[in-house]
Amino acid sequence: MSKVLYIVVPCYNEEPVLHETSKCLDKKLQQLIDQKIISDQSRIMFVNDGSKDKTWKIIKELHKSNPHFVGISLSRNRGHQNALLAGLMTAKERADVIISMDADLQDDINVIGQMLAEHKKGAEIVYGVRSSRAKDSFFKRFTAEGFYKFMKLMGVDVIFNHADYRLTSRRVLNELEKYQEVNLFLRGLFPMIGFKTAIVYYERGERFAGESKYPLKKMLSFAWDGISSLSVKPLRIITMLGFTVTFISALFLIYTIITKLFGVTVSGWAFTVCSIWLVGGVQTLSLGVIGEYIGKIYNETKARPRYIVATDLEKDTIEESTKE
Ligand code: UDP
Ligand code: MG
Repeated sequence: MSKVLYIVVPCYNEEPVLHETSKCLDKKLQQLIDQKIISDQSRIMFVNDGSKDKTWKIIKELHKSNPHFVGISLSRNRGHQNALLAGLMTAKERADVIISMDADLQDDINVIGQMLAEHKKGAEIVYGVRSSRAKDSFFKRFTAEGFYKFMKLMGVDVIFNHADYRLTSRRVLNELEKYQEVNLFLRGLFPMIGFKTAIVYYERGERFAGESKYPLKKMLSFAWDGISSLSVKPLRIITMLGFTVTFISALFLIYTIITKLFGVTVSGWAFTVCSIWLVGGVQTLSLGVIGEYIGKIYNETKARPRYIVATDLEKDTIEESTKE
């Protein structure tokens, strides 16, 4: 028997793209079902992440008109990573394999077949990796590639040029469920889980409508979130910095004593003022970094739910049919 596939798509204010996206995905799903690669129980699951536009209305209409579409709606906007987790956790109860992707079709859906083939060969996680960023603007490409390099430098193991387009088996998601962290950075967690993995390459297209929800500011905060959630390297860098500064001060101390002994008197005002500012700045920055980690610990200890599912279209239909 062929496997049940769920394609999980988080959506936040995606009204301009949903009709086109659903059409393309449905065509692809039907094609895979016809080729008997996946079971006819396979579905496309939209996750409405507290959208303010008609996104949820469109999802409900799609569900009514075509059994291939299902959806869940979160109680409010929780951000891309939490929305994706909500979808993955709901889908894993109903599917054998799950593919996650963005709503804007920037990820090439034609490699889904390749992903499934890699899974058939034994890969439990198949990462979709952009082969080039030719279609991105120079600025986006520069900042996005810088993002991955900086993450690596800071001790976070991420797959270069892989975002959240990936296939995972149910088994992997059962393991992911055990990672209870509130500060979510999914693309850093999957490499930690392990198992046999594979990579498929694709050309990333342009967002065909609507606008990116990841402008530079959000991307920077996302990178920092990833680093501080998965690595303690910044704290180690502060320690190293502390050692270096102490070492340099010791050298200066020796220098001062020697000049004093030889009776050379220098006014040294500029030097003193600069040192105060520099040391003050380094200390404040270091405290800030440590504070960020404490903030994360604070959030983790509270262990608040990462998402709340308000409506689950599929579950509601099952419940309604048993009531009758
Ligand atoms: N998204 C979400 N919640 C948010 C922000 C974004 O569910 O708070 C979804 C969005 O609808 C899209 C995906 O996350 O499907 C990625 O966002 P986007 O395409 O804007 O990011 P980019 O591809 O520009 O990095
Ligand atoms: Mg996108």
